[in-house]
Amino acid sequence: MRVRTRCPAVRRTWIVELRPQAGGPVLVCQHCPQNGSPLAAASARSAALAHLARHARCDVLPVHMRTCQCHERGCCWHPRHRGCAGPIRLLLARERGGRVWRLADSCTACAAATDQSAVVPDTILSAATPWPSAASRRRRGRQPRGPGEQTRVREMLSYLAAALPADTGAAARLVALQCALRMDAAANVQLPTGILRGLRLGHCSEPWQELERVRWLSRIPATPEGDTATVAARLFDAALLTQSPARPDRRRAADWVLRAARPTRVAAGGPLPQLAAVCLAAYTPHGAGNGLTEADRMARDCGLDPSALPDVLDQLTTAGLLASWNVCPDSGDLRWTQAAQCVGGL
Ligand SMILES: [Zn+2]
Ligand SMILES: [Zn+2]
Ligand SMILES: [Zn+2]
Repeated sequence: MRVRTRCPAVRRTWIVELRPQAGGPVLVCQHCPQNGSPLAAASARSAALAHLARHARCDVLPVHMRTCQCHERGCCWHPRHRGCAGPIRLLLARERGGRVWRLADSCTACAAATDQSAVVPDTILSAATPWPSAASRRRRGRQPRGPGEQTRVREMLSYLAAALPADTGAAARLVALQCALRMDAAANVQLPTGILRGLRLGHCSEPWQELERVRWLSRIPATPEGDTATVAARLFDAALLTQSPARPDRRRAADWVLRAARPTRVAAGGPLPQLAAVCLAAYTPHGAGNGLTEADRMARDCGLDPSALPDVLDQLTTAGLLASWNVCPDSGDLRWTQAAQCVGGL
């Protein structure tokens, strides 16, 4: 590795605006000359994220040189501040109703305090790092296999909550989650139809059409001699494109999602309770039997308006997954207790 003799100011913040114009929104980047070509409204979000991801890939820095960009700006991106803490991660944040998107290095504490944001899952963008991972593991003492299944799923849910339009349905989110966790290094995925049947989405093309409409993926038509036991698709989400190849630990996370979504009485309720069951499982400490997170975060991960969350939680209670739940009116925290037979079931 080259030794630097001086440290230039580290700037790892990229901001793009989708500026409404006649003919469609135009992407305006603070770092790039404007090309001004209008985008289709449905795919503008994908284009913004792709542009940000390109910047992050081009400006890779070793971890020890990355600093909390939020802190460097006086923590003006979030309401309260208890001091920077925790590892530096890339944070994707949405402002002004999705008109402005920001990708920046942020410490864990600032990331947690920033509304409308998602930490970019750990594997994303790491493939572009020019330093050998073994060396960085030694330096940082990082676990070779990365975070566990539950953390991986939690981060991917949060990332998809930011990357997909807010009105994306639960079935499309379940499909997107499986695709993102099972894609290969070229951003292609072969999703076994058995998995779709397990999610009760076997003969359902609407979730796929929904993801195609927003340019998140495109199905690859099957050839006559092709494999009919899978649905093939290519993902367009450029932030995901640089993910490391489909490693066993990421596929294990995809299998973990299936186990969380499949309790029979939950699955019978349709995709929304299934997705909510996955979200709750992702935020329940292993073996604890109860969990706590912000109700707004849970609603966002499920693609729901917060006012619609109680109905879904009631459904999960009726289905025997939850023993109880409540939302604290002051803090907005959602607490839940799993039904005894579901504790530690994953
Ligand atoms: Zn740019
Ligand atoms: Zn901050
Ligand atoms: Zn910070």
